[in-house]
Amino acid sequence: MPSILVVPVGAMGDLDLTALSEPLNEVFRLPVSIHIGSPLDPQAAFDTFRNQYNSTLILTRLLDRYGQHDGKVLGVTMNDLFVPVLTYVFGEAQLSGTAAVVSAHRLMEEFYGLTPDPAMEHDRLLKESVHELGHTFGLVHCHEPECVMRSSNAVEDIDLKDVGMCDRCRSLMEGTA
Ligand SMILES: [Zn+2]
Ligand SMILES: [Zn+2]
Repeated sequence: MPSILVVPVGAMGDLDLTALSEPLNEVFRLPVSIHIGSPLDPQAAFDTFRNQYNSTLILTRLLDRYGQHDGKVLGVTMNDLFVPVLTYVFGEAQLSGTAAVVSAHRLMEEFYGLTPDPAMEHDRLLKESVHELGHTFGLVHCHEPECVMRSSNAVEDIDLKDVGMCDRCRSLMEGTA
């Protein structure tokens, strides 16, 4: 049976990936398992000039190791991610593919010089995880203001979204549209 495998990428610090398990299961209605053991080493994706990690190369690494997984693979990292044309990304995914990656780096209040807010940071990570996994299920960006598939350029955008998809995106994902 297909499942969603959540894989730590690099050092996780205080981030608790098990908290993603139940809410991801609720949205996608698939079993969710958290990879136990050593995290995926992101070093091959590190760009010394930008001091950031290339998200596309992390997707490649995830596929090298977990490409045979039946279902979806979500990498989660504390490292800052980029794609060459953008200053940073919250995540990246293969459209209608297997792998997705999200970064908690810019979801933390501390990154903006603010007091940590674990509940808010958890919500942001969950929304971005659902968003990137949504791409692996074939969903593209949505214009509904509260839909999780709306694209976010800043954390403020993420905070305005719901954890779930709008009715249209959900039926597209479930193949009933
Ligand atoms: Zn997106
Ligand atoms: Zn939508």
